[in-house]
Amino acid sequence: RAAAARSARTPDRLRSPIVCILGHVDTGKTKILDKIRKTNVQDGEAGGITQQIGATFFPLDAVKRETSKLAAGRALSHDIPALLIIDTPGHESFTNLRSRGSSLCDIAILVVDIMHGLEPQTMESIQLLKQRKTPFIVALNKVDRLYDWKAKPMTPVIDALPAQKKHVQDEFKRRLEETKVAFAEVGFNSEVYWDNDDVRSHVSLVPTSAISGEGIPDLLYLLVSLTQKLMSDRLMWTSHLECTLLEVKVIEGLGTTIDVILTGGTLKEGDTIVVCGLDGAIVTTVRALLTPHPMKEMRVKGQYVRHASIEAAQGIKISADGLDRAVAGTQLLITEDGGSEEELDLLRVEVMKDFATILTAVDRS
Ligand code: GDP
Repeated sequence: RAAAARSARTPDRLRSPIVCILGHVDTGKTKILDKIRKTNVQDGEAGGITQQIGATFFPLDAVKRETSKLAAGRALSHDIPALLIIDTPGHESFTNLRSRGSSLCDIAILVVDIMHGLEPQTMESIQLLKQRKTPFIVALNKVDRLYDWKAKPMTPVIDALPAQKKHVQDEFKRRLEETKVAFAEVGFNSEVYWDNDDVRSHVSLVPTSAISGEGIPDLLYLLVSLTQKLMSDRLMWTSHLECTLLEVKVIEGLGTTIDVILTGGTLKEGDTIVVCGLDGAIVTTVRALLTPHPMKEMRVKGQYVRHASIEAAQGIKISADGLDRAVAGTQLLITEDGGSEEELDLLRVEVMKDFATILTAVDRS
């Protein structure tokens, strides 16, 4: 009965997909994140884009506004509530976001510098994505570096490219072909997104410039359309708790807190949680569920807002006793049958399995 309750899924309700950014150093991962976060802010409206713990919450209305210049973007349907974009780019946050070897990241943006092609850390990222079976799209970044490129700020690149001189378009085509060959060599068919007729067998390439913002609307559109098209099953809202510990942090006035990404179910104040610890499982009670104050710049009391309960998908800070020795990159479990000693014992064993996985991973590297 407990198993049935745990897997209770709601077909007509989807959660927000979790998006990660990976790629070689200096390809523009941070800059792309900044550009995505600031898009609506530049237009003078925050558009509901909010900073969460470890992630940016990008509501579908904001995506709609950003993609309004794209014919395909205008036709986006509203099945998912938002995109939850993980703020820390790179391998570490991606590898931390996992449960039993499979990734909790639903889709990744792999950033490639169009002037450099596939570099060593691009290859490492591709290996990680393969291992975790995570679908990804490629941001072919720094198109503005193509000689003689005339920037058209925040324009869909599908419009910005045809407006360039012929020799610029030719150089783009040459580099695009080189990229496709390089991807084929590592076992992936790829195609520029507007020519990609089969997103299941071909990775979509999106030319972008994180400086002028070209291609950013296209990137947002693809994230939404692909997640809705390819993984509505995976994104079905479930009451089963799925929660990953991203960071352990000491905060003045709160003591040791944990930053988590809740990818399934609901967390409540007062819940008994079980967390992997360096000296064994930690059983504790949620004292407070916190998110950053939306109006940080105003003189508001306290940096965080408290919540009685929070539903997936969200980034949250948890304040509770005894978290000093908690281990990042592990699962957070919750008691469901009222926390009998028997249940707690099972959860303790379960949560410490993560620790063994992490140790083996460290051994291997
Ligand atoms: P990361 O290491 O992948 O996070 O790369 P960053 O976002 O820090 O970018 C590395 C450098 O490339 C910085 O100097 C950026 O200003 C620059 N950069 C990033 N994206 C672009 C782009 O689209 N065009 C140009 N011209 N420069 C970029």
